[in-house]
Amino acid sequence: MADNRQVAPGSDLAKPLDEAAIREVSSKIRGDLIRSQADGYDEARTVFYGGFDRRPALIVRVKDASDVSRVVALARESGLELAVRSGGHSVAGHSATEGGIVLDLSQMKDIDLNAEGRTAWAQAGLTAGEFTAAAGAHGLATGFGDTGSVGIGGLTLGGGVGYLVRKHGLTIDDLVSAEVVTADGELLHVDAETHPDLFWAIRGGGGNFGVATRFQFELHQVDTVLGGMMILPATPEVIGSFVAEADAAPDELSTITNIMVAPPMPFVPAEVHGQLIIMAMMVYAGEVDEGERVVAPLRALAEPIVDMVKPMPYPEIYPPEDDDYHPIASARTMFLDTIDRSVAESIVEYLRTSSALMAVAQIRVLGGAMARVPADATAFAHRGSRIMVNVAALYERQDEAAIYEPWVNDFAAALRQGDDRAYVGFLGEEGEERIREAYPGPTLQRLAEIKGRYDPNNLFRLNQNIKPEV
Ligand SMILES: Cc1cc2nc3c(=O)[nH]c(=O)nc-3n(C[C@H](O)[C@H](O)[C@H](O)COP(=O)(O)OP(=O)(O)OC[C@H]3O[C@@H](n4cnc5c(N)ncnc54)[C@H](O)[C@@H]3O)c2cc1C
Repeated sequence: MADNRQVAPGSDLAKPLDEAAIREVSSKIRGDLIRSQADGYDEARTVFYGGFDRRPALIVRVKDASDVSRVVALARESGLELAVRSGGHSVAGHSATEGGIVLDLSQMKDIDLNAEGRTAWAQAGLTAGEFTAAAGAHGLATGFGDTGSVGIGGLTLGGGVGYLVRKHGLTIDDLVSAEVVTADGELLHVDAETHPDLFWAIRGGGGNFGVATRFQFELHQVDTVLGGMMILPATPEVIGSFVAEADAAPDELSTITNIMVAPPMPFVPAEVHGQLIIMAMMVYAGEVDEGERVVAPLRALAEPIVDMVKPMPYPEIYPPEDDDYHPIASARTMFLDTIDRSVAESIVEYLRTSSALMAVAQIRVLGGAMARVPADATAFAHRGSRIMVNVAALYERQDEAAIYEPWVNDFAAALRQGDDRAYVGFLGEEGEERIREAYPGPTLQRLAEIKGRYDPNNLFRLNQNIKPEV
C-alpha cells in the first residue's frame, strides 16, 4: 500500500494509483483487477443506462468481504472516487466513475436459504431475478422491484418497491440483518440489536454508510400467484378508474402500470401499435380464485387489448431480459396522493405529444403493508404516500437530453400536488434539494449524524449523498 493517509474526498491529495499499490491489492485479494488496457475492460465498465460512458482507472470484481475491505482501503488511501456496484442499474450513474475505482460485487452471488426458518442470507451481487428464482424453488419469496436484472444491493439499500409491496411491504421490511464493510474497512454485522443506528440508516439511506456484502431477508410463502400483464386503452377515465380500483383492492394485489405509446411488440395487435395504452403489470399474492374476483373490476374498465393475467409461479413475473439493452433516459420520480381527472388528462396530453423513442408515465399504487410501518422506523420516510409516479423519456443519443430533460421536468411539474416527495431509488443526479425530498427533515438529520459516525470523511460519496455531520 502506498501509505496510510486518509485523504479527504475531492482533495488535491487524490493521486493516480501507483503500480506498487495495485500490485499489493492484487496479491492479497481473491477477485479480479481490470485496468483500461485489459481485454474485457469495456464490458466491465458498462452499466445498465447508456448515458454513462465513464472510464474508471480500476475495476475490482471482488469475491468476498475481505476483498471489499481491501478495495475500500485502496480508495481511502488514494483519495480516488469509489463507485460501488451491485447490479449496475443506478438511475444517476453512480456505479460508474471517471478515473476512479469501481468496486464490483456482481460475482458475489451466494445464497444460503433456510426454507424451514423462512430466511435467506444473500450476497449483494445477486439480482432480484436470481434471488427470486432461488427462493421460488421453495415456493418462497421476498419482494424486490419490477425488473429481474436490478441488483438486490442498490435496490434494498434504497427501500425496494415491487410486486409484493402492499402484501409484504418494502424490501427493507423483510431485511433481518446485513453485513456491511464500513469506511475504515471493518466488517460489521448489523441488525436491530447490533449497530441499530446503522441498521436504521441502511434501510433507505442508500450506499452512504458502507458496502453491504450480505443481506439476511425474511421469506414469505408466495407460490402460485395470479399475475402478469393486462393492456387497456389509455383514456383519462380508464387511467383514473384503474388507480381507484387498484387502491381499493385488498393488499394482496400490487400493480405497476406503464402508460405509454404501444410498442410494436408481437403480443400487441398491430392495429394498436402507436396508440396510447395502459400496460399494467400485477401480482395477486393470494388464492387464485379470489384474485380473479379482485382483478375482475380492472378487466371491466374497458375491453382489454391484451390479457395475460393468469395463475403462474411468482418468479415468472421477471421475464428474460436482453443484456445488450442500454437505454439513455431522462426521468423524474414523485409521490402523489391521487390521480384525479386533471392529472390523468395531463398524463395523456404529455405522452401523446412526446417525440421520444419511448415516453412513459409509471404509476405504482402503494399502501397496505408498506404503510403500516411507522414513518420513522427506517430511513424510508414516505410510508403514507398512496401513489408513486415516475415519468421518463428514453432516447438514442446523449445530445437529445437537451430536449428531454426539460420535457420530464415540465411533465413532472404538471403532475405534482404541492408537497414534493421523492423515492431515492429513482432519483437521478438532480441536486441536494431533491435529496431533501427523499429524506424529509428529521430523517435527513438522523442520517447525517449516523453518516458522521460511520463515514466522517465521506468516502462513500458517489451516491445520493448525505453530508456527514461530524
Ligand atoms: C430498469 C429499472 C427498474 C427499476 N425498478 C425498480 C423497482 O421496481 N423498485 C425499486 O425499488 N427500484 C427500482 N429501480 C431502482 C433501483 O432500485 C436503483 O436504481 C438501485 O440503486 C439499483 O441497484 P443496483 O444494485 O442494480 O445498482 P448499482 O448501480 O449497482 O448501485 C446503485 C447505487 O447503490 C449503492 N450500492 C449498490 N450496491 C451496494 C452495496 N452492496 N453496498 C453499498 N452500496 C451499494 C451505490 O451507491 C450505487 O451507486 C429500478 C431501476 C431500473 C434501472
